[in-house]
Amino acid sequence: MDFYLNFAAYQLNTRMSGNSSSVTSILDQLSASGHKKVVFCNDPDTGLKAIIAIHDTTLGPALGGTRMWNYNSEAEALEDVLRLSKAMTYKAAISGLNLGGGKAVIIGDSRKAKTEALMRSYGRFIKNLNGEFVTAEDMGTTTRDMEYIRMETNHVTGVPESIGGAGDPAPITAKGVFLGIKACVKEVYGTDMLAGRSVVVQGIGNVGEHLVDLLRKENVEVYVSDINEERLQQVARKYKAKAIEADKIFTIGADIYAPCALGATVNDKTIKKMKFAIIAGSANNQLGDEELHGQLLLDKGILYAPDYLINAGGLINCYSELTGFGKKRTMQLTENIYNATREVIKLSKAENIPTNLAASRIAEKRIADIKKIKSSY
Ligand code: NAD
Repeated sequence: MDFYLNFAAYQLNTRMSGNSSSVTSILDQLSASGHKKVVFCNDPDTGLKAIIAIHDTTLGPALGGTRMWNYNSEAEALEDVLRLSKAMTYKAAISGLNLGGGKAVIIGDSRKAKTEALMRSYGRFIKNLNGEFVTAEDMGTTTRDMEYIRMETNHVTGVPESIGGAGDPAPITAKGVFLGIKACVKEVYGTDMLAGRSVVVQGIGNVGEHLVDLLRKENVEVYVSDINEERLQQVARKYKAKAIEADKIFTIGADIYAPCALGATVNDKTIKKMKFAIIAGSANNQLGDEELHGQLLLDKGILYAPDYLINAGGLINCYSELTGFGKKRTMQLTENIYNATREVIKLSKAENIPTNLAASRIAEKRIADIKKIKSSY
């Protein structure tokens, strides 16, 4: 069955159809973002349409989740996978892991279009990459899907604990976020004791609830917000947290804002209203515009813990599964998020640059340094 369509073939097909401008723009896009390889997967028999993006493999195989989403267009799917795979390179690099950055998207409605055959067909595309890309769960995919992929290839993590996986990453992610908060509190208040501080946790799903638990155990005053009203009341009761309405988040006088739901919640509109001293949460891509909003936060004196640094617990969990590290080593690597956050803050202060820029510089330096030693064998 000829279902493997790689990027070279995609280029060729597009050229043959006379649409050379879109080839140029895709390749320009890859050059601009520094991507190594993009694989377009097409299997008419199962309906699979997926894009695997490998950003950088200097430090190791590109690891990234597979997101299944009903994108409005292929261009939108490509843009998403390029952005997400690049972020994975930075997340792995700053976390000290020997992993590169990658990500994949399957185009389609995960509630309707997902079948065993589709996931296994996708698994074969991963297999053909011979370990250059390793995947895991993301939005729209589950541990069950990872099991289907595992039927075709070993290059998958996030399988259930019962078949050798490292289990639910959410508690580890929450622990990393908690330590990131502590590192920021140390900077702002001179001690990392959290008792008496106040935190707004936006989104009390898998990660958010674990974070609320850790914070309450340290006697932090916790405000919670979630669009799921039933869950909101249940979690608020269980941890003695204060449930607040979504539109109160940015006006409340709490010390810390922990975004644990959506991306881009730190933007022109919200920054204006914020009275927080610290922003530190698990959500990916918290800044609406990296450059602009990182600088605005610095100008306003709000300390921002770069999202990909403090939410790396999930990736660390996958890395442990891949390398066979046990829970102890997973926890050690996660605990290092405290020191890594302190290091980012130190560089940000020394150079008077936003913390997100300081984090990128540290990640890029590690990749450049390792690239040099690799050429000396
Ligand atoms: P989840 O789906 O379990 O929880 C998200 C919660 O946010 C849900 O309860 C949802 O109702 C709520 N929510 C959605 N929109 C909201 C809004 N506008 N206001 C308030 N609440 C809203 O997801 P999760 O696994 O807890 O992940 C949370 C965030 O952390 C996501 O952005 C995810 O990408 C990121 N993240 C998660 C992990 C992990 O290990 N699970 C790792 C790294 C990053």
